[in-house]
Amino acid sequence: MDEKTRRIWAGLVGYANGTATAALIRATIADCMGWIAATMPSDVFDPMLVEGDLSKQAEAYRPSVEILLRFLCSAPRSEERNSLRAAALDFLRQHGEHIRGRVFREAYFAEEHLRNLNYTPDELENLKKQTKRIFNRAQYEIYHRGQPTLVGEDSLPLGLLIPSRGYEDLADPICDFLSSEYEKYLNSEVNRKDKKAAPLIPLFVCPSCKKLVMPKRVGRRHHCSECSDQARAEKYRQKASPNEGKDYAWLYHLLRQESDTRKARLRQQKVQQRLGEIKSRQKNSRRCQGLLQALRL
Ligand SMILES: [Zn+2]
Repeated sequence: MDEKTRRIWAGLVGYANGTATAALIRATIADCMGWIAATMPSDVFDPMLVEGDLSKQAEAYRPSVEILLRFLCSAPRSEERNSLRAAALDFLRQHGEHIRGRVFREAYFAEEHLRNLNYTPDELENLKKQTKRIFNRAQYEIYHRGQPTLVGEDSLPLGLLIPSRGYEDLADPICDFLSSEYEKYLNSEVNRKDKKAAPLIPLFVCPSCKKLVMPKRVGRRHHCSECSDQARAEKYRQKASPNEGKDYAWLYHLLRQESDTRKARLRQQKVQQRLGEIKSRQKNSRRCQGLLQALRL
């Protein structure tokens, strides 16, 4: 998975979970659009990405995007898959109709509205160069002293037109991205008959807190990071010897004693015996091991 695709999935998870900022949502949408964002004239583009309208649309579409993502990562034949199917398909179909396949748009570069999106300075520079190249190579009309005049070398058959896509609202580029990922998945399944295809989507639902999660590596985690920290702590508590608390208190008391008293006690056989027991049974207790070290034992 390339860096940009990973960025989009992570952005969509944040959006669906309701934790993404307006800036992250805007950047994710722009990432979904890619080059298309740079071909959209401001009258189409602005209402979609201007702050006020963006947050209104983002709020309106969030539940549907969440349903769609949960549907896509649900288990086959699960109750979740069955219960989400109708709503997810409705949403995809509705916005699929808005996505007007191939449209041709004139090359267009407006740095001021691209600056707020997710492009790196390099990408911006490339878009600028690409647009300039198209203008240099196309033939187009300019008005010279009130007269329309054709300029340009005409070496690009389509002139200033470049293939782009039509979008109407914020959900369209998201549905378009998810549909094309689905298409990629179907193609990769065909191409990898022998091997297991990569998972359809790199997300899962945390079984503990039910949030959507994008793991750093696919298949590595089964819980979100917060829940797996909790699960680890719980496992540790279960694994810890039942005497752990008492042993810890005993060591702590020993550490706090005057050094002469402690030395005298350490010479006693029953004290030595308990120390030996603690050392072996509290191997997994980080706090007991810490005290043993402090006692230099
Ligand atoms: Zn969780």
